[in-house]
Amino acid sequence: MDRTTDVLIIGAGPAGATAASLLQQAGFRVVIVEKQRFPRFVIGESLLPRCMDLLEEAELLDSVREQGFIIKDGAVFKRGEATCTFKFTQQFTNGWSYTYQVPRDQFDKTLADAVEARGIPILWEHGVTRVEFDDSGHSLTHLEGPNGESLEVSARFILDGSGYGRVLPRLLNLDEASSLPLREAMFTHVSGDKRPVGEGEGRIWVCLMGDEENAWMWIIPFSNGKTSIGIVAKPDYLARFPEDPDARLQAILQESAATRERLSDVQFTFPVRTIRGYSISAKRLHGPGFALMGNATEFLDPVFSSGVTLAMESANRAAKTLIRQLNGEQPDWEKEYAEHLMMGVNTFRTFVNAWYDDRLPTIFFSPMKEEIFQDQICSVLAGYVWDENNPFVGQSERSVNTIVNACKVLAD
Ligand SMILES: Cc1cc2nc3c(=O)[nH]c(=O)nc-3n(C[C@H](O)[C@H](O)[C@H](O)COP(=O)(O)OP(=O)(O)OC[C@H]3O[C@@H](n4cnc5c(N)ncnc54)[C@H](O)[C@@H]3O)c2cc1C
Repeated sequence: MDRTTDVLIIGAGPAGATAASLLQQAGFRVVIVEKQRFPRFVIGESLLPRCMDLLEEAELLDSVREQGFIIKDGAVFKRGEATCTFKFTQQFTNGWSYTYQVPRDQFDKTLADAVEARGIPILWEHGVTRVEFDDSGHSLTHLEGPNGESLEVSARFILDGSGYGRVLPRLLNLDEASSLPLREAMFTHVSGDKRPVGEGEGRIWVCLMGDEENAWMWIIPFSNGKTSIGIVAKPDYLARFPEDPDARLQAILQESAATRERLSDVQFTFPVRTIRGYSISAKRLHGPGFALMGNATEFLDPVFSSGVTLAMESANRAAKTLIRQLNGEQPDWEKEYAEHLMMGVNTFRTFVNAWYDDRLPTIFFSPMKEEIFQDQICSVLAGYVWDENNPFVGQSERSVNTIVNACKVLAD
């Protein structure tokens, strides 16, 4: 393999595969370095319709379609006996009306196989250990292979799509604490889910689990008959239940009418896994010779399934900005890349905060159902968080507060 490349991409997840494909389409040499061997488990299984545009542009949609993933055409929110359904056919933004629920081992392998089949080398089971930049931003990246062997790759630019590995944020001291409080997620896959039949079968369910600080559970059905379930809550909430993780999740299922009924006969297909403290930010998203993408930038919270969409959008933008630079132009990375990405992140930030402080549930479960604002909210939930014509994008905080106040007036 040539150890000199135009672009070194760290991580073969959705961010890495998307950027690699776009850069290769533009005629640049790309090498991907991936610490693990695929298929590998990663959490984050519910896509948003915006992903479809991004997969299509990266010429990856056909490969994804061939997998026969279950179609997700909406999102269902549950609180006790109350239900609020958003159908992606009823949106403000003119976007895709569906997407997929994807076991990530299969989805990520599909993307990686597709880019590898186009001749993009992937150095599997190679982890980045050290990176040196010279004054012009050219880099020498030191890698360690599966048997401890060393390898070096010289690149004009590095795109870091290392996800939770956060390679460059760690090496360049760019990590920044999140403004969100510590939460924990416990999850597994199950068989025996009594999912709806016919319309709505593939929708994600987001179930509120109690009155306190809006702990919630996801239910994400797959086409292989299994279903992903998980609880997200502050550690205090979880500590009220048995200590053993499997027993804890089983006990939590009893806390809401929705999960109690639908998941009453489920069997866990692997022991419950726990992760905590996943919300994190970065001091900056780019610098001479590098840019961060996907979860290596900022990760907020799983509640609106925004992670893969933001990973692929950031990869799309970073690749386009980089193509201009490699073609001799001088793009403004802050404006063209960071500000664009943060518009979407900040829209989701408003929604995440409004979920946990109960403003969004107040809207979702209000009898007030004005079509126009429902459609605008639906487009945010579909991942169209760069449509500045949508008041829930440009002025998300104000728009949420206006509707909450109207719902409260109606309730009084
Ligand atoms: C509880 C929970 C639930 C979630 N649910 C959803 C959801 O329903 N929908 C959604 O869209 N998102 C969800 N997410 C977010 C989602 O997991 C991520 O946003 C998404 O996986 C980010 O993709 P990525 O390409 O940036 O990174 P990843 O998919 O994490 O890929 C990064 C790759 O980099 C590799 N790597 C790491 N370190 C190194 C190294 N040193 N050298 C080389 N390679 C390296 C890793 O092996 C990995 O394969 C959830 C997150 C959490 C915490």
